[in-house]
Formats: sequence, structure tokens, C-alpha cells
Amino acid sequence: MDFEGILQQIATDMQAETERGTAAGYIPELASVDTNQFGMAVALADGRSFAVGDSHRRFSIQSVSKVFTLALALGRLGEDLWRRVGREPSGLPFNSILQLEHEHGIPRNPFINAGALVVTDAILAGNAPREVLGEILRFVRAAAGDDDIHIDDAVARSETEHGDRNMALSHFLAAHGNFENSPELTCGTYFHQCAIEMTPHQLAMAGRFLVGSPDLPSMISRDRVRRINALMLTCGHYDGSGDFAYRVGLPGKSGVGGGILVIVPGRASIAVWSPGLNRHGNSKLGTLAVERFAQATGWSVFG
Ligand code: GLN
Repeated sequence: MDFEGILQQIATDMQAETERGTAAGYIPELASVDTNQFGMAVALADGRSFAVGDSHRRFSIQSVSKVFTLALALGRLGEDLWRRVGREPSGLPFNSILQLEHEHGIPRNPFINAGALVVTDAILAGNAPREVLGEILRFVRAAAGDDDIHIDDAVARSETEHGDRNMALSHFLAAHGNFENSPELTCGTYFHQCAIEMTPHQLAMAGRFLVGSPDLPSMISRDRVRRINALMLTCGHYDGSGDFAYRVGLPGKSGVGGGILVIVPGRASIAVWSPGLNRHGNSKLGTLAVERFAQATGWSVFG
């Protein structure tokens, strides 16, 4: 397969797109990012990697961080984690509070904000945020095989300054007894995990732990790899998850920074970044690019 040619063609097509979506507007650091940027990287199970466009430019991974914290939480708590968070698509925006009241403070899944806050709260478990953030960074760096991955403090600070909604979700979870730490501590840790910066190349490399190939180093069990992939497919794009599964046919996790991590089980990890978002808060061109990639390669979890 001519991966280089496929990626070049996609990058050329994306450059010509005029409908690029809008950058996330909830914090100034993300609102000011240039939506003309586009980068994509593919890391294959056989060790080869390919990249195109702004594939070495750092971006804020935001909610893509939720796959790493979920892996850590499952490693620490095992199936007990599911007492505190569900495994169903929410059908609502990523930061919605609506379902929490009906469902007694148990968020629908670990990839919406409420669920991710519970996951972060679970790994925090009385430890100092600094230690837990160190653990998250160590996991991401080990997965990527690259120590040059850091947290953007300005983004984390800005998230804190504009964090009313996540704080409200946290207080609501605490009111239902589904929080072990103070909302301030868990939210602060969550804001910093979201502010991890990576390049598309680094993210594609880090995603290899979810490919489940015997040729790649395994950081978590095969069973867990399958399960995290199942959640990415059903819940990884919020209320746009069905559309992503229909168009791309592969598990993916998006973030409001415009990044998407996509897994081709047994074959590859793909990262794409373009900061313009669609109405669900998922990268507009990123989704289109991986849709084209899936068409060109014929790769799909549906055969
Ligand atoms: N930091 C963002 C928030 O909590 C992450 C959301 C996202 O990437 N969808 O609102």
C-alpha cells in the first residue's frame, strides 16, 4: 500500500477545503489557533510510520487524554471502575450535565467530561495531583517512546479560569457521592491532563498501545485493548459517535483541540489534527481526512 501517496493526496485535498469548521472558543488559547493547520501521522504495527502536513507541530490533545487515563484507571481499579461510570453513548454534548441527575451521578461513559472527571478522580485517589500527572505523563511518554511530551501550563491555567462548567459537573458528582477528592483537586488534575501537548506524530506513536498487535510492545492486556476500542467506537465522539462510526468505521477519540486518535485494530494507529471543529466539537477536516484514509486503504473494523 502506498501510504505516503495516500497521505499526500489527503493533505492536498484538505488544503483545498474551504469549510474548515471553527476553533474551540471556550478558552482564548484554543480560540486563537489557526484553522488552516492540518497534520496527519500513521504508525504501523510493523514499525513503519508516515506523516504529512503539520505532523510535527504540537497541539493541545484535550479529550484524547481520556483514553490514557481510562487505561490507567482500568489498570488500577479493574472492572470496579464500572460501578462509578457507565459504558453507553450519551447522545449529548461532551460537557452536558443533563443525564447526571436522572442517572444518580453515574456518568454515561468515560469519554464525556463527567465520566472523565470520575476516571481522573479514581486515579487521583488521595494522591497528590503532581504525582498523578507525573504518572499520566510517564504512561503517555512510554507509549509514544518519546520523553519530549509536556503539559502546556498556559492552557491548564486558562481551563481553570474558565472552568465553571467542569466544576459544576464535579460538584454534582460529589453531591451524589461519586467523588473521592475535592472538586478543586480533581478538576485541577483533569485540566492539566487535557493540556498535554503532542504532535500528530507523537500521538500516532502513543496510540500503538491500543493496536493490539503482537509486533508492538503491550502496555495493557489484549482484553483491555479490545474494550477500550469498543468504547472509542461507541462513545469517542460524543453525540457525533454514530456519524464517525458510519463514515470512518474505526474506533476514534477526539478532543476540542482538533486532534483525533484512530485505531485500526491489529494494523495501525493514526493521529490527525486540524483545529476547526464541527458542531459536535470534533475536528471537521480531521474526520474527513480519516474517512478518506479508510476509503483509500479499505480498512474498517466491519471487514
Ligand atoms: N478540556 C475540555 C473540557 O473539559 C475537554 C473537552 C474536549 O476535548 N471535548 O471542556
